Amino acid sequence: MVKAGVMSGPGEKIVIEEFEEPMVEAGGIVLKTIYSEICGTDVHLHHGRLSDVPYPIIPGHVSVGTIEETGGKLKDIDGNELKKGDLISFYDVHEICNECWFCLVAKATTRCPHRKVYGITYSSNEGLLGGWSELIYLKPGVKIMPLGQDIEPEDFISGGCGLLTSFHAVERSGMKLGDEVVIQGTGPVGLFAIAWARSAGAKKIIAVGSPTHRLEAAGAMGADDIINIEGLDSEERVEEVRKRTHGRGADIVIECSGNPQAVYEGVKMTRDAGNYLIVGQYTDAGDISMNPHYDLNKKHINLFGCWGFDFSHFYKAVKMFTRISNDYPFKNLISKTYSLDEANERLRAVENFEVIKAVIKPN
Ligand SMILES: [Zn+2]
Ligand SMILES: [Zn+2]
Repeated sequence: MVKAGVMSGPGEKIVIEEFEEPMVEAGGIVLKTIYSEICGTDVHLHHGRLSDVPYPIIPGHVSVGTIEETGGKLKDIDGNELKKGDLISFYDVHEICNECWFCLVAKATTRCPHRKVYGITYSSNEGLLGGWSELIYLKPGVKIMPLGQDIEPEDFISGGCGLLTSFHAVERSGMKLGDEVVIQGTGPVGLFAIAWARSAGAKKIIAVGSPTHRLEAAGAMGADDIINIEGLDSEERVEEVRKRTHGRGADIVIECSGNPQAVYEGVKMTRDAGNYLIVGQYTDAGDISMNPHYDLNKKHINLFGCWGFDFSHFYKAVKMFTRISNDYPFKNLISKTYSLDEANERLRAVENFEVIKAVIKPN
């Protein structure tokens, strides 16, 4: 039997349940979980703030593990054969249809209405389709990426979905060599956005966030300048950014905070004709007011929203990560590793911002 942590509904305690070992179909993979993440998404799931969640679920959407069994001979996207024991991660989004208007015309697969996400929109009644489990069943067609010899599982999972989401955000922001960049928010998405912005050739990176231990991490990830939002009001935060950017504001500002107020400030932190990208507003945290004349039209600003990541971001982020994983103390971002049984404590720790990244080690 296989043990997994099950969230039966919003607000319910996570309980450990036993499942049958998965039967591998042709093209399927059984993964022995090394690590899965506990991220803000899991807190939102526990608060019932995401729509269309078929509780009960096994949470845990980004995970790493070793191949236990494959349904026939399988290859990765580069044509390399997959073997038992290979260290891999997988693209948590599955069943993108490649037939709908969003897939084919808009070419925006992150908005495909048929997409399903491991650990979020699969029910535990459908099998081991989440990472808080000793084994994960990868259905036929789930896209995997070998992590190879160059990536340690601790480094990869220290970012988890944040590593991948932030890669998409930096790419979509239109960042160019020599840009001055502000990253709002110093959780996992913000911290990895700093590292990717460095890779993308930012000349100066200003991290805006709190609390102190996260700001220290922002420095370790490559931020040149740090603004602690605590003790500053909205105008003062904007002023601090302007002081550091020739009075103009930054070329690129990326919001990774989850607080709507950050959007109000972030637009003002962006220079005229600069780019502002919002990736942190993953659930509805409320409204803000803006002045469309000053903040948008006259400012000639480029405003982007950014939802999830597609396979290209997953692929490129993993390949790039092999280049940079030794350059930063990524694994130090893991504040605590929890066992399967400690589900309720780990959710609380993430909810209360006690940890930068919490991971689960089911085996
Ligand atoms: Zn589609
Ligand atoms: Zn996540």
